[in-house]
Amino acid sequence: MFGQEIVEFYHQTVQASLRQSPFDTSSKAAFAAWQVESRERLSAILGEMPAETVDFNLQRETVEETDTYVRERLVYATRPGLHATAYLLTPKNLSKPAPAVLALHGHSSGGKDECLDPNGLYAGFARTFAEQGCVVLAPDQIGFGERKFPEGKVTYNVMVHGLNMLGHTLIGVRYWDLARALDLLETFDTVKADRIGVMGLSLGGEMTMFVAALQERVHAACVSCYLTSHQSTFLDRPHCTCGHLRDLARHFEHVDISAMIAPRPLFLEAGRKDDSFPYEDAEALARDLRPIYAMHGNDPSDIGVHSHGGGHVIDGSQSIPWMLERLNQA
Ligand SMILES: [Zn+2]
Repeated sequence: MFGQEIVEFYHQTVQASLRQSPFDTSSKAAFAAWQVESRERLSAILGEMPAETVDFNLQRETVEETDTYVRERLVYATRPGLHATAYLLTPKNLSKPAPAVLALHGHSSGGKDECLDPNGLYAGFARTFAEQGCVVLAPDQIGFGERKFPEGKVTYNVMVHGLNMLGHTLIGVRYWDLARALDLLETFDTVKADRIGVMGLSLGGEMTMFVAALQERVHAACVSCYLTSHQSTFLDRPHCTCGHLRDLARHFEHVDISAMIAPRPLFLEAGRKDDSFPYEDAEALARDLRPIYAMHGNDPSDIGVHSHGGGHVIDGSQSIPWMLERLNQA
């Protein structure tokens, strides 16, 4: 039987092909040049993007009012023929523009609603940021919440693989949605545009990584239960295939994409009981990035990591205060 030989061939191919464009810290100039070139390469890996933006055609309705914030449901166009749905949480009685957080759910069928549930996987983090004075935009990502696929031939998997065959990617479509979400936040006079953070769990963490890496207007990022390595996750065991981008692991490991965020503040949250994203790898990734933050003269706490006692969930006990501190800096 030759089965084991095939597995060995696969492992050898991973070793031989992985991470051919690693970050370069030989000097600040070399690192800056690597970032410019790598963002371009990463953007190409995400696939074709629209040539121009469309009018948001924004619709909003108030769906909840608490003591501290108002929650609206938004519908807005992100490209021709495609609309995003989202919640916008706006603190009451703002006397000046507030920091904002783009709050991203993962593979959760409830989409944006799950980011609000204090008893769910997300510990209600979207609400917590609003209660702490931030404007929060929590969109539904394609495939979840109000953007679930209807019954029919075109299923989630057909779209993931079909888009790949066409030079697009589902991650790239989601990325563009989120770039437009940042544009939308910047149009609100309640938002301090240079203090926008992004935080997400799992797929939401992955999207946080891509958006923060490519959008330098993101002031701070918190990735929960995703940032580790391709090698210990997608290349090692079955996962949903939406993140399996052609050539991504050939060029960049997670640490390299994270280095595209540096020296902007980055926090990694990991779960010691998370079976899919090993916390040891999250801690190693943060260690590997520290010299980049030191080279740029940042405070060491601008690259943070917290391995909590839970599983594949947002803990928030360190990540949320960390984010609030970064977003409230003058
Ligand atoms: Zn997926």
